[in-house]
Parts: sequence; structure tokens; C-alpha cells
Amino acid sequence: MMEEGRTPYDLLLKGGYVIDPANSINELMDVAIRGDHIAAVAKSIPVEESQKVVDVSGRYVTPGLIDIHVHILPVFEGSVTSDLIALRSGVTTVVDAGSSGCKNFEEAKTSIIDKSKTRVLALLNIASCGMCLGEQKLTEMDAVAAAEMIARYPDILVGIKSAHYMGAGFESIDHAVHAGRLSHTLVMVDFGVKATASYEDLLLKHLRPGDIHTHFYARHFPLLNDDGKVQDYVWKARERGVIFDVGHGAGSFWFHRAVPAINQGFVPDSISTDQHAFSLLLIDATMPTVMSKFLNMGMTLEEVIKRSTVNPAREIQRPELGTLSVGAGADVTVLERRKGEFGFVDCGRNGMRGDYRLECQMTIRNGKILWDVNGISCPDWEKSGD
Ligand SMILES: [Zn+2]
Repeated sequence: MMEEGRTPYDLLLKGGYVIDPANSINELMDVAIRGDHIAAVAKSIPVEESQKVVDVSGRYVTPGLIDIHVHILPVFEGSVTSDLIALRSGVTTVVDAGSSGCKNFEEAKTSIIDKSKTRVLALLNIASCGMCLGEQKLTEMDAVAAAEMIARYPDILVGIKSAHYMGAGFESIDHAVHAGRLSHTLVMVDFGVKATASYEDLLLKHLRPGDIHTHFYARHFPLLNDDGKVQDYVWKARERGVIFDVGHGAGSFWFHRAVPAINQGFVPDSISTDQHAFSLLLIDATMPTVMSKFLNMGMTLEEVIKRSTVNPAREIQRPELGTLSVGAGADVTVLERRKGEFGFVDCGRNGMRGDYRLECQMTIRNGKILWDVNGISCPDWEKSGD
């Protein structure tokens, strides 16, 4: 029942262009929030119905962005603080991609995840010590222990990660997939192609439908054949349900791979940054910049938003995220698409000119405004009183 004197809504985003691919919304709409959830999305919601009104006309209102490949948990020396980077980038949910394993996940949970304002989910490294030398040691890979840890923290752990394995074959991948089967979760892989372990076998024989290959526009994968065409077996892998995620990082995104692949229609299923200390400077692997690259390579804004919200939410089996459905948690991002002369850098330090750059104006997490770079939610000081 409505308390007397209380308006139906606490916060109203007025006049923005809403892009919510989960609900096929791509038009001017108002978004109203009550408490920590989305209360209404409609053509015109009267300003009197909300405690606070923010004019977002000329801007895009989207579900809070989801970045499914970051490194924020300790163990890996390049891990960076989530809140400071995520929220200013419009990201309300991150997935730490295997920085920690069974032996150190709980410590990371207490020291970082439990204190974070950003929603932090994680993939458990199949190596029990996380991103450490154990990634090379099969004795460090215990699928049963990993599945048990996931069962203990199902709200946080969304799957398993296998990465950086230099051994001859698919041993690390297969241990990870075994753990994925035991825990009914996905596996994300970072993989080194070798003479004894081909990319084709990885995609067609070792990964399951729903498993994710991250970094697929990296130079070290034979995504394209000698004629520059996307390999037939890569298309087949997509047909059988293998997911292709960007995982930009400091070494895994090359315009030489991405532009021809996108021109042939091979676009990513999800856009992610692989954000860590070494991919932030110069390359600027933040969501708005990585998304801007795809916009300038010819994808529409709606396609880019879809791959940064609803698609990653579904990939990690959290369909309640990445949407502005009424009743969903109030994680909302306000973006601006600037038009002008811009430039972008890939992992080989190659540049690309572009006409558009996305910028995060405002980030709302759980109904609270936590980032507002231009102060559009704040009263003008000359009118606000002392
Ligand atoms: Zn990574």
C-alpha cells in the first residue's frame, strides 16, 4: 500500500531514448525506479509521480552494462579495483574471469566481492591457485573440488575458466569442462593453439554448446583462412552453440581480424574488456571504448547494446540481469553517443578513425545514482540554496 505523501516513484529518467534489447524496446521512453527495482517504462510518465526527475533527453538509457571478462580479484598482479573503473564505465555487473581458484576464492570474496558496490560474479579458475603457475600443472586441477566450491557459492560463481595452459593438448580445457558438467555451469576458455591441439578441435570437439571462447579476435587464432574468409569450422562451432566473446585485453583484439570478420557477418556474441592493469592504459579497454570500436566497425548501437547487456546475461545464465523489465533490479546506464573525429587503438597499436564515441554519463546501481559525470541529476548551485 502507498504511504501517504509518497510519490509512486523515487527516480524518473525523463525523455531518454531507451534501448532494451531484451524487451525489443528501441524508442523514446521514460524509465521510473522505485527503491531498488524498475517500476515503469512508458511513453510519458508525469513528473509529479516521482520524487526526483532527471532530464536525460538526447541520451540513451540502457540496462546496466555487463562485462563478463575482467580481473579484479587478487592473485593476478594486474587485477584492478572494480568499483572505480566499472561504475564510471556504465558497468553494473562484472565477471572476474578466473583470477582465483578453489584455494583462494573465499579470501577474494571476503576482501573484495562482499565489499563491492558493483555486482561481482566470478568464474573459478580450474587451477586451484587461480592465475598462477598452477595453470600449467595438472595436479593443481581438481574438477570435483571446483564443482564443490561453485555449489557453495552459486550466487557468485557462474562457471569455470581455463587459461594460459602451455601443455601439448587439451588437458586444462577437459578438466574445466568436466568441472562444468559436474556443476552445471559454463566454461570460458583462453587457449593457445599448438600443432598438437588445433583450434578446430577445440571448437568442435572439446567445448560444449554454451561454453565461451574469449579473445577470438586475437592474432594467435586462425579465425580467418588464407583467403581472409572466416573458417567454415568457426561458423559450424557457432551453429552448435559455442559462444564467441571479445575479451579485448592487452593482446587479444586486432582490427586486422575483427574488421574482415565483421564484414562477413561474424560479429561477437558478447562484448567484454578483459580489463586489467595492462589493458587500461593506451588501449583503454573499458566498455564504452570497446563498444565504440564495434559501432565504428559498422554495427548498430542496438546490436552493440544487446551484446553488452542481455546477451552476456544469458550466457552466464542470469537472464534476470541486462534488462529494464518492470520488476528487474534497477541497474541502469545513461550513455551519450558523440559524433565527431575520434580514434581507437588495438592491441598491436594500430589505429582506426571513427565518427562516434560512446561515453557513460550516468550509472545507477540498485536504484542509486553512483556515477554522474556531468551532474545532470544535481540541482544548479545558484538555485539550490546554501
Ligand atoms: Zn583475462
